[in-house]
Amino acid sequence: MKLLILDSGHSEYVQGKEAPDKSMKEWEFNNDMQHKIKTIAEKQGITVYLTNPNPSKKNEMGLTRRAQYANDYWISKGKPDALFFSIHSNAYDSKFNAARGTETYYASNASQKSKNAAKDVQEEVYKVMKSIDSEAKDRGVKVADFTVIYKALMPSILEEYGFYTNREDLKILKNNRDELAEATVKGVCKYFGITYKEVGGNPPSESQTPGEDVYENCIIYKGDVDKNIANILGWGLKDYIIVPLQEYKVGLGKKVFVVGVAANEIEGDVNLQGNNRWDTLNEVLEYLGK
Ligand SMILES: [Zn+2]
Repeated sequence: MKLLILDSGHSEYVQGKEAPDKSMKEWEFNNDMQHKIKTIAEKQGITVYLTNPNPSKKNEMGLTRRAQYANDYWISKGKPDALFFSIHSNAYDSKFNAARGTETYYASNASQKSKNAAKDVQEEVYKVMKSIDSEAKDRGVKVADFTVIYKALMPSILEEYGFYTNREDLKILKNNRDELAEATVKGVCKYFGITYKEVGGNPPSESQTPGEDVYENCIIYKGDVDKNIANILGWGLKDYIIVPLQEYKVGLGKKVFVVGVAANEIEGDVNLQGNNRWDTLNEVLEYLGK
Protein backbone atom coordinates (compact mmCIF):
# COMPACT_ATOMS: atom_id res chain seq x y z
CA MET A 1 0.00 0.00 0.00
CA LYS A 2 1.21 3.47 -0.94
CA LEU A 3 -0.51 6.12 1.13
CA LEU A 4 -0.70 9.78 0.24
CA ILE A 5 -2.00 11.99 3.03
CA LEU A 6 -3.20 15.33 1.73
CA ASP A 7 -3.56 18.34 3.94
CA SER A 8 -5.47 21.18 2.30
CA GLY A 9 -3.87 23.80 4.51
CA HIS A 10 -6.67 26.23 5.28
CA SER A 11 -10.41 26.36 5.82
CA GLU A 12 -12.79 28.92 4.40
CA TYR A 13 -13.01 31.16 7.46
CA VAL A 14 -9.25 31.75 7.66
CA GLN A 15 -8.49 35.48 7.72
CA GLY A 16 -6.90 37.16 4.70
CA LYS A 17 -5.09 34.77 2.37
CA GLU A 18 -6.58 35.97 -0.88
CA ALA A 19 -5.34 37.61 -4.07
CA PRO A 20 -5.06 41.43 -3.88
CA ASP A 21 -7.83 41.71 -6.49
CA LYS A 22 -9.92 39.19 -4.50
CA SER A 23 -10.14 36.89 -7.53
CA MET A 24 -8.85 33.83 -5.65
CA LYS A 25 -8.77 32.68 -2.07
CA GLU A 26 -5.99 30.38 -0.94
CA TRP A 27 -8.27 27.87 0.81
CA GLU A 28 -10.33 27.46 -2.35
CA PHE A 29 -7.24 26.74 -4.46
CA ASN A 30 -5.88 24.29 -1.87
CA ASN A 31 -9.19 22.48 -1.60
CA ASP A 32 -9.67 22.19 -5.34
CA MET A 33 -6.12 20.89 -5.65
CA GLN A 34 -6.51 18.24 -2.96
CA HIS A 35 -9.50 16.76 -4.77
CA LYS A 36 -7.80 16.89 -8.17
CA ILE A 37 -4.65 15.28 -6.77
CA LYS A 38 -6.74 12.64 -5.01
CA THR A 39 -8.52 11.66 -8.22
CA ILE A 40 -5.30 11.33 -10.22
CA ALA A 41 -3.37 9.61 -7.42
CA GLU A 42 -6.10 7.00 -6.92
CA LYS A 43 -5.88 6.16 -10.63
CA GLN A 44 -2.21 5.33 -9.97
CA GLY A 45 -3.24 2.84 -7.29
CA ILE A 46 -2.23 5.18 -4.46
CA THR A 47 -4.48 5.29 -1.39
CA VAL A 48 -5.37 8.87 -0.46
CA TYR A 49 -6.42 10.23 2.93
CA LEU A 50 -7.54 13.82 3.47
CA THR A 51 -7.02 15.48 6.85
CA ASN A 52 -9.60 18.16 6.00
CA PRO A 53 -11.79 16.86 3.18
CA ASN A 54 -14.38 19.63 3.28
CA PRO A 55 -12.94 22.96 4.45
CA SER A 56 -15.79 25.09 3.12
CA LYS A 57 -17.83 27.01 5.73
CA LYS A 58 -15.41 25.91 8.45
CA ASN A 59 -13.03 27.60 10.83
CA GLU A 60 -9.33 26.97 10.47
CA MET A 61 -8.32 23.52 11.70
CA GLY A 62 -5.50 23.43 14.25
CA LEU A 63 -2.12 22.53 12.77
CA THR A 64 -1.35 19.95 15.44
CA ARG A 65 -4.73 18.35 14.84
CA ARG A 66 -3.94 17.97 11.14
CA ALA A 67 -0.72 16.15 11.94
CA GLN A 68 -2.55 14.09 14.57
CA TYR A 69 -5.20 12.97 12.06
CA ALA A 70 -2.45 12.01 9.65
CA ASN A 71 -0.49 10.12 12.29
CA ASP A 72 -3.56 8.30 13.65
CA TYR A 73 -4.62 7.19 10.19
CA TRP A 74 -1.11 6.11 9.22
CA ILE A 75 -0.74 4.05 12.42
CA SER A 76 -4.21 2.52 11.99
CA LYS A 77 -3.11 1.27 8.55
CA GLY A 78 0.04 -0.35 9.97
CA LYS A 79 2.48 2.45 9.04
CA PRO A 80 2.58 1.84 5.28
CA ASP A 81 4.92 3.55 2.83
CA ALA A 82 3.46 7.05 3.00
CA LEU A 83 3.86 10.73 2.22
CA PHE A 84 2.23 13.62 4.03
CA PHE A 85 1.68 16.45 1.57
CA SER A 86 0.49 19.88 2.66
CA ILE A 87 -0.98 22.05 -0.09
CA HIS A 88 -0.52 25.82 -0.15
CA SER A 89 -0.16 28.84 -2.33
CA ASN A 90 2.06 31.69 -1.29
CA ALA A 91 1.78 35.38 -0.48
CA TYR A 92 4.23 38.23 -0.16
CA ASP A 93 2.85 41.54 0.99
CA SER A 94 -0.80 42.43 0.38
CA LYS A 95 -0.42 44.12 -3.02
CA PHE A 96 0.55 42.55 -6.33
CA ASN A 97 4.34 42.44 -6.62
CA ALA A 98 7.21 40.70 -8.37
CA ALA A 99 7.84 37.89 -5.85
CA ARG A 100 6.90 34.60 -7.50
CA GLY A 101 7.86 30.98 -7.86
CA THR A 102 7.41 27.42 -6.65
CA GLU A 103 9.01 26.10 -3.48
CA THR A 104 8.79 22.86 -1.53
CA TYR A 105 9.61 22.44 2.13
CA TYR A 106 10.70 19.70 4.47
CA ALA A 107 11.23 20.11 8.20
CA SER A 108 14.56 20.15 10.03
CA ASN A 109 13.75 16.76 11.58
CA ALA A 110 13.05 15.23 8.16
CA SER A 111 14.31 11.89 6.97
CA GLN A 112 16.11 11.41 3.68
CA LYS A 113 12.77 10.20 2.29
CA SER A 114 11.15 13.60 2.94
CA LYS A 115 14.08 15.28 1.21
CA ASN A 116 13.70 12.97 -1.80
CA ALA A 117 9.96 13.63 -1.96
CA ALA A 118 10.50 17.40 -1.81
CA LYS A 119 12.99 17.20 -4.67
CA ASP A 120 10.76 14.95 -6.81
CA VAL A 121 7.67 17.12 -6.41
CA GLN A 122 9.53 20.42 -6.75
CA GLU A 123 11.07 19.26 -10.04
CA GLU A 124 7.77 18.17 -11.57
CA VAL A 125 5.76 21.18 -10.42
CA TYR A 126 8.39 23.67 -11.53
CA LYS A 127 8.71 21.87 -14.87
CA VAL A 128 5.01 22.24 -15.61
CA MET A 129 4.93 25.86 -14.35
CA LYS A 130 7.78 26.64 -16.73
CA SER A 131 5.97 24.94 -19.62
CA ILE A 132 2.95 27.17 -18.97
CA ASP A 133 4.95 30.37 -18.42
CA SER A 134 8.61 30.56 -19.40
CA GLU A 135 9.18 33.22 -16.72
CA ALA A 136 8.05 30.86 -13.94
CA LYS A 137 10.55 30.74 -11.08
CA ASP A 138 12.16 27.79 -9.32
CA ARG A 139 12.62 28.78 -5.68
CA GLY A 140 13.85 25.29 -4.89
CA VAL A 141 13.63 22.94 -1.93
CA LYS A 142 13.81 24.64 1.47
CA VAL A 143 13.84 23.72 5.13
CA ALA A 144 11.30 25.16 7.58
CA ASP A 145 9.65 23.76 10.67
CA PHE A 146 6.02 24.24 9.75
CA THR A 147 4.03 22.48 12.46
CA VAL A 148 2.24 20.05 10.13
CA ILE A 149 5.37 18.65 8.53
CA TYR A 150 7.38 18.83 11.74
CA LYS A 151 4.80 16.81 13.68
CA ALA A 152 3.84 14.32 10.99
CA LEU A 153 5.49 10.99 11.76
CA MET A 154 5.74 9.82 8.15
CA PRO A 155 7.84 11.51 5.43
CA SER A 156 6.29 14.92 4.96
CA ILE A 157 6.55 17.96 2.71
CA LEU A 158 4.76 21.25 2.19
CA GLU A 159 4.19 22.68 -1.26
CA GLU A 160 3.86 26.36 -2.11
CA TYR A 161 2.76 26.16 -5.74
CA GLY A 162 3.10 29.86 -6.48
CA PHE A 163 2.25 33.35 -5.23
CA TYR A 164 -1.30 34.63 -5.45
CA THR A 165 0.19 38.07 -4.80
CA ASN A 166 1.94 37.84 -8.18
CA ARG A 167 -0.20 38.39 -11.27
CA GLU A 168 1.57 35.82 -13.44
CA ASP A 169 1.65 33.08 -10.79
CA LEU A 170 -1.97 33.83 -9.94
CA LYS A 171 -2.97 33.19 -13.55
CA ILE A 172 -1.47 29.71 -13.34
CA LEU A 173 -3.01 29.04 -9.92
CA LYS A 174 -6.41 29.93 -11.34
CA ASN A 175 -6.22 28.38 -14.80
CA ASN A 176 -3.85 25.40 -14.72
CA ARG A 177 -4.87 23.33 -11.73
CA ASP A 178 -5.21 20.09 -13.70
CA GLU A 179 -1.64 20.44 -14.93
CA LEU A 180 -0.38 21.28 -11.43
CA ALA A 181 -2.22 18.30 -9.93
CA GLU A 182 -0.88 15.97 -12.59
CA ALA A 183 2.68 17.23 -12.06
CA THR A 184 2.29 16.75 -8.32
CA VAL A 185 1.19 13.15 -8.75
CA LYS A 186 4.08 12.53 -11.16
CA GLY A 187 6.45 13.69 -8.43
CA VAL A 188 4.67 11.57 -5.84
CA CYS A 189 4.86 8.51 -8.13
CA LYS A 190 8.58 9.09 -8.60
CA TYR A 191 8.97 9.26 -4.84
CA PHE A 192 7.04 6.00 -4.34
CA GLY A 193 8.97 4.36 -7.18
CA ILE A 194 5.89 3.67 -9.28
CA THR A 195 5.42 4.41 -12.97
CA TYR A 196 3.04 7.26 -13.67
CA LYS A 197 0.11 6.26 -15.89
CA GLU A 198 -1.49 8.94 -18.03
CA VAL A 199 -5.07 9.66 -17.02
CA GLY A 200 -7.85 12.02 -17.97
CA GLY A 201 -8.82 12.79 -21.56
CA ASN A 202 -6.50 10.22 -23.11
CA PRO A 203 -8.18 7.43 -25.06
CA PRO A 204 -7.61 3.90 -23.82
CA SER A 205 -4.35 2.52 -25.14
CA GLU A 206 -2.95 -0.96 -25.68
CA SER A 207 -0.53 -0.35 -22.83
CA GLN A 208 -3.37 -0.18 -20.34
CA THR A 209 -3.11 -3.18 -18.05
CA PRO A 210 -6.00 -5.58 -18.50
CA GLY A 211 -7.98 -6.41 -15.42
CA GLU A 212 -7.75 -2.89 -14.03
CA ASP A 213 -11.42 -2.11 -14.61
CA VAL A 214 -10.87 -1.94 -18.35
CA TYR A 215 -13.57 -3.88 -20.16
CA GLU A 216 -13.41 -5.19 -23.70
CA ASN A 217 -16.69 -3.41 -24.39
CA CYS A 218 -18.34 -0.46 -22.72
CA ILE A 219 -21.99 0.27 -23.50
CA ILE A 220 -23.26 3.70 -22.58
CA TYR A 221 -26.94 4.54 -22.38
CA LYS A 222 -28.91 7.64 -21.52
CA GLY A 223 -32.57 6.91 -20.80
CA ASP A 224 -34.47 3.77 -19.72
CA VAL A 225 -35.49 2.84 -23.28
CA ASP A 226 -31.85 3.06 -24.27
CA LYS A 227 -30.96 0.72 -21.43
CA ASN A 228 -33.05 -2.00 -23.09
CA ILE A 229 -31.07 -1.61 -26.30
CA ALA A 230 -27.89 -1.60 -24.24
CA ASN A 231 -28.92 -4.93 -22.69
CA ILE A 232 -29.60 -6.47 -26.11
CA LEU A 233 -26.14 -5.41 -27.22
CA GLY A 234 -24.70 -6.82 -24.01
CA TRP A 235 -26.19 -10.27 -24.74
CA GLY A 236 -24.09 -10.42 -27.90
CA LEU A 237 -20.82 -9.27 -26.39
CA LYS A 238 -18.29 -10.83 -24.06
CA ASP A 239 -16.64 -8.89 -21.21
CA TYR A 240 -18.80 -5.81 -21.16
CA ILE A 241 -20.02 -3.16 -18.80
CA ILE A 242 -23.22 -1.13 -19.20
CA VAL A 243 -23.12 2.34 -17.68
CA PRO A 244 -25.38 5.36 -17.66
CA LEU A 245 -23.89 8.38 -19.42
CA GLN A 246 -23.03 10.22 -16.22
CA GLU A 247 -20.91 7.32 -14.95
CA TYR A 248 -18.90 6.84 -18.11
CA LYS A 249 -15.18 7.59 -18.01
CA VAL A 250 -12.82 7.48 -20.95
CA GLY A 251 -10.84 4.26 -20.78
CA LEU A 252 -13.57 2.14 -19.21
CA GLY A 253 -13.85 -0.04 -22.30
CA LYS A 254 -11.60 -0.80 -25.25
CA LYS A 255 -14.63 -0.58 -27.51
CA VAL A 256 -17.29 2.01 -26.82
CA PHE A 257 -20.94 1.71 -27.82
CA VAL A 258 -23.28 4.60 -27.35
CA VAL A 259 -27.00 4.04 -27.16
CA GLY A 260 -29.29 7.06 -27.39
CA VAL A 261 -26.62 9.60 -26.51
CA ALA A 262 -25.55 12.45 -28.75
CA ALA A 263 -22.03 12.04 -30.13
CA ASN A 264 -20.85 15.33 -28.71
CA GLU A 265 -21.68 14.22 -25.18
CA ILE A 266 -18.94 11.59 -25.18
CA GLU A 267 -15.21 12.13 -24.93
CA GLY A 268 -12.94 9.86 -26.92
CA ASP A 269 -13.57 7.40 -29.74
CA VAL A 270 -16.87 5.60 -30.21
CA ASN A 271 -17.29 2.31 -32.09
CA LEU A 272 -21.02 2.32 -32.60
CA GLN A 273 -23.59 5.04 -32.46
CA GLY A 274 -26.85 5.50 -34.33
CA ASN A 275 -28.54 8.75 -35.26
CA ASN A 276 -31.48 7.88 -33.03
CA ARG A 277 -32.74 4.97 -30.91
CA TRP A 278 -34.26 3.02 -33.78
CA ASP A 279 -31.22 3.55 -35.93
CA THR A 280 -29.00 2.49 -33.03
CA LEU A 281 -31.03 -0.69 -32.49
CA ASN A 282 -30.62 -1.57 -36.17
CA GLU A 283 -26.90 -0.91 -35.94
CA VAL A 284 -26.69 -3.07 -32.85
CA LEU A 285 -28.46 -5.95 -34.56
CA GLU A 286 -26.31 -5.56 -37.61
CA TYR A 287 -23.17 -5.43 -35.48
CA LEU A 288 -24.21 -8.65 -33.77
CA GLY A 289 -24.92 -10.25 -37.16
CA LYS A 290 -28.59 -10.78 -36.39
ZN1 LIG B 1 -1.08 28.70 3.18
